Amino acid sequence: MTLFDSPAFEGHEGVHAFFDEKTGLKAIVAVHSTARGPAAGGCRMWPYASAEAALEDALRLSRAMSYKNAMADLELGGGKSVIIGDSRTMKTPALFEAFGRAIEALNGVYWTAEDVGVSPVDLGYARRETRYVAGLEGHPAASGDPSPVTAEGVFRGVRLAVRRGLNRELDGVTVAIQGVGHVGAYLAEKLHAAGAKLIITDVNEEALTQVAALTGAAIVAPGAIFDAQADVFAPCALGGAINESTLPRLKAKIIAGGANNQLATPEIGREVFARGILYTPDYVINGGGIINVAGEIRALERGEAFDQAWVEAKLDRLTLTLEEVLDRAASEGRPSDQVANEMAKARIAQAAASKMAA
Ligand code: NAD
Repeated sequence: MTLFDSPAFEGHEGVHAFFDEKTGLKAIVAVHSTARGPAAGGCRMWPYASAEAALEDALRLSRAMSYKNAMADLELGGGKSVIIGDSRTMKTPALFEAFGRAIEALNGVYWTAEDVGVSPVDLGYARRETRYVAGLEGHPAASGDPSPVTAEGVFRGVRLAVRRGLNRELDGVTVAIQGVGHVGAYLAEKLHAAGAKLIITDVNEEALTQVAALTGAAIVAPGAIFDAQADVFAPCALGGAINESTLPRLKAKIIAGGANNQLATPEIGREVFARGILYTPDYVINGGGIINVAGEIRALERGEAFDQAWVEAKLDRLTLTLEEVLDRAASEGRPSDQVANEMAKARIAQAAASKMAA
């Protein structure tokens, strides 16, 4: 398969490969769309088995960022960067400085931030070479940890889904949370405060006991979360939680959580719909994190301090967008993930058309 036939290519505006001999940096930056503004999306450092695997991941993730940024109503396009390497053994300040020079060479077409394997400290080294970096710490424009904002958006999305799907408020509703890391733990606290009953799981014992102590949640083994007697299933761990073997086991009538790529395949999305389960598309409900990062980009571009009120307004709007997705899915009798994809593509196409006309 060549680059242009890859299923994830889908009209990418640019794909850039960088190699730095001195530091061994091998990076790919995929820019899916700049129709709505500069492409924005995190940098992932991962020991990919091949350059093809890294390219495929960069393309898939960058297109997903275009959709996510469009649905979060941000003036940002979609992009993503990947560094090929083991983040536990291969990180050096010089490597991230070289990465910064690569980003600088793109001249503002792409803004980078944190993703798996990359920390604010690493980004600080990149920042020495380029200003197109968000997710930093210790300056007035800094947005800080995005997880609480992501969790707040997910909390509002769960509440909306429960109102629509069960005609209830959260009080007394049982939510099963898979993964109580950054997002899952904040979500658990918010749901507990709203009167929900919780069933939680994680592979990290310490995280589990901490969240259970704070929220009174019942703990189950990782494999048992799919069988939990719950009204809502909230995936907040890794991708692919909803697949052919887990879906038939779910008792919940609602799937709403913070994880990315919750549906293993588009076919699973159709199966979720056929089973009468209300699904809040992952990249819409979890858009709070990128809204927070966008707040930092906006502040950096304007030379201003981070504006919490702007983030709040975008978060309010995100919940309205999620409501629109669910309304359309219900009135058109179609899976919500399909509706979300169409809305995202339409928003990007509209921005591209007005850019052409200008
Ligand atoms: P995290 O690493 O802090 O938390 C993930 C948790 O899941 C960890 O505690 C981990 O031990 C647990 N876990 C891993 N495998 C598991 C399994 N098989 N069963 C049960 N638990 C398991 O990550 P996070 O920042 O909380 O992100 C969680 C998800 O939300 C990810 O999919 C991430 O891409 C997505 N997301 C996060 C943000 C954010 O702001 N942090 C924004 C958007 C999307």
